[in-house]
Amino acid sequence: MQAPRCILKELESLGKALYGAKLIAQRFQVRSCSHHKDPVGGSECLLSMIADGNPHHFFIATQDQELSHKVKKKAGVPLLFIIQNTMVLDKPSPKSLVFVQKLQTNQLVPDHQKQSIVQLKEKEGLAKQEGEKRRKRKRAGGPNPLSCLKKKKKTTQEGQEPSAAKKKRRKRKRNRVKAEDMQLVQKNEGE
Ligand SMILES: [Zn+2]
Repeated sequence: MQAPRCILKELESLGKALYGAKLIAQRFQVRSCSHHKDPVGGSECLLSMIADGNPHHFFIATQDQELSHKVKKKAGVPLLFIIQNTMVLDKPSPKSLVFVQKLQTNQLVPDHQKQSIVQLKEKEGLAKQEGEKRRKRKRAGGPNPLSCLKKKKKTTQEGQEPSAAKKKRRKRKRNRVKAEDMQLVQKNEGE
């Protein structure tokens, strides 16, 4: 937490009414701003610190609706405020969301790089690996084990990867109770 010098000056000038707020602000690290000789209003000072794309990545904590409104108009400035003794981090402003989307589509990966990524993936056979991963996932998920206990035994006899066998060993303990339950249900159904 930091408080710019101008904020401290403003709180000082407001006297007794904001003495408590001043004491709290004094506990924060003092941030030197560009208004060292001529202090400006607190809001103006904070806005100057987040100008030019908020280069120091400040969050602004304020209960001032007017200041909040101005902060939301700038992209990339997280806003903190208090509701009933709870500090709340506001959700990113529409302005910030638009900014991030533009950054993702335009700046982070230019079109020619996107194309070369696709080409490189094909070259290295990574596109195939992705397909294999999908198949593996399906096997891992499999059908509901409780719905086909007998079938499952058959598949283990056919022989599978050792890792799959280990997994099953672990699961067996957990499933034992359930399996007994299932047998009971099946018996009941048979009777
Ligand atoms: Zn200042």
